[in-house]
Amino acid sequence: MQTSFTLAQLADPEVAESEKILRACVHCGFCTATCPTYVLLGDELDSPRGRIYLIKDMLENDRPATAEVVPHIDRCLSCLACMTTCPSGVHYMHLIDHARAHVEETYRRPFVERVLRAIIAKVLPDRKLFRLSLFAAFLAKPLAPLLDLVGLAPVAAMLRLAPAKIPPPGRLGPCVIPAEGERRGRVALLTGCVASVITPQINEAAIRILTRHGIEVALAEGEGCCGSLVHHLGRKEEALQAARHNVDAWMGEIQGEGLDAILVTASGCGTTIKDYGYMLRNDPHYAERARMVAALGRDVSEYINKINKLKVAPTPALVVAYHGACSLQHGQKITREPKEVLSKSGFVVKDVPDGHLCCGSAGTYNMLQPQLAMALRDRKVACIAKVAPDVIAAGNVGCITQIAGGTEIPVVHPVELIDWATGGPVPGALRRLVDTV
Ligand code: SF4
Ligand code: SF4
Repeated sequence: MQTSFTLAQLADPEVAESEKILRACVHCGFCTATCPTYVLLGDELDSPRGRIYLIKDMLENDRPATAEVVPHIDRCLSCLACMTTCPSGVHYMHLIDHARAHVEETYRRPFVERVLRAIIAKVLPDRKLFRLSLFAAFLAKPLAPLLDLVGLAPVAAMLRLAPAKIPPPGRLGPCVIPAEGERRGRVALLTGCVASVITPQINEAAIRILTRHGIEVALAEGEGCCGSLVHHLGRKEEALQAARHNVDAWMGEIQGEGLDAILVTASGCGTTIKDYGYMLRNDPHYAERARMVAALGRDVSEYINKINKLKVAPTPALVVAYHGACSLQHGQKITREPKEVLSKSGFVVKDVPDGHLCCGSAGTYNMLQPQLAMALRDRKVACIAKVAPDVIAAGNVGCITQIAGGTEIPVVHPVELIDWATGGPVPGALRRLVDTV
């Protein structure tokens, strides 16, 4: 694609990077077929190619975002299916991140939207505030239909997404969980924010698998939200601050006892952590260290799949529908490892038809775009039903919550199944099912 940025514009490193991305696009349109919003809405402006044109127009002409453009940018899930499809290697993720920051800087959203986004940005990354807000949401759940009627669908969606039961707090750092027997490796594990509050059992399962197989696990002092929640809201500086914070925390471990990897059980966070090197590339104090941290980032399935000889104990050979989270399959290009390690653990793994399409969770998307998110969820649940599974496995807390809201089939993280198969407890969501097998 031809571009006509001035030299003055290209002096801004963000613009220079976006210009490179724009030039790679040959407008072939292959990406439209795999874009969930184009599939649902059929509007070119809600396709990757259409959005690329809108972003080019804003950046090239130094145009502030407008009420006509913003909805198309907002409707993008950042699922990155377009990056998997694109034959020209267009780095859409970095382009849409830049566009979201541009929207945030140049567009004044309606009052309710501003308040809602500010609340999300403040509450979700903060474990204590998020936990408190879940109690409030639980009490306010019956008001959801009323909020829908008065035009506050995003607030209603938030209430509906709040879990019916809030688990006791999970283990947080700083601490080191020693390996059982001879130590064969040492990793850090991200505790993060939302996942540590609503699904603490996932990291506990990961810790049991790792230590059982000789891997010491460190929960680093000061580590917290990876920054992806605010990043996707266009709040660039807040995202960079979160990234710096985690870089400092993990550098302490790297320079101390050392780390073989930094493991993440929420793939949305993993995609962001693997991008820290890019995010902080223009920060002279952090660029090098951010690259080191990013290079150590691994999805937990990547690491566990490399463990020699999983200690598998007999469990029922359940049929598992594997849902590939977008951040895992498109963001990190990890498709094989979670399924391989589930198979090695004795489960019968089935792919979900149209598995490349997002379930609608996408970070805060299911709160901010509830109707589209619900349509995608229903489509995903119908596709999953076609393989008639006993259980659904997904490597991202957002997908687990989203899909579980639309089906009676239990939804768990792959590590919960692998932990069970290697000597851990039956996953909580499966207890009733296992009793009947
Ligand atoms: S597939 Fe790639 S090159 Fe083709 S229009 Fe989409 S982003 Fe551009
Ligand atoms: S990230 Fe997903 S929703 Fe956004 S343009 Fe690409 S395919 Fe479409």
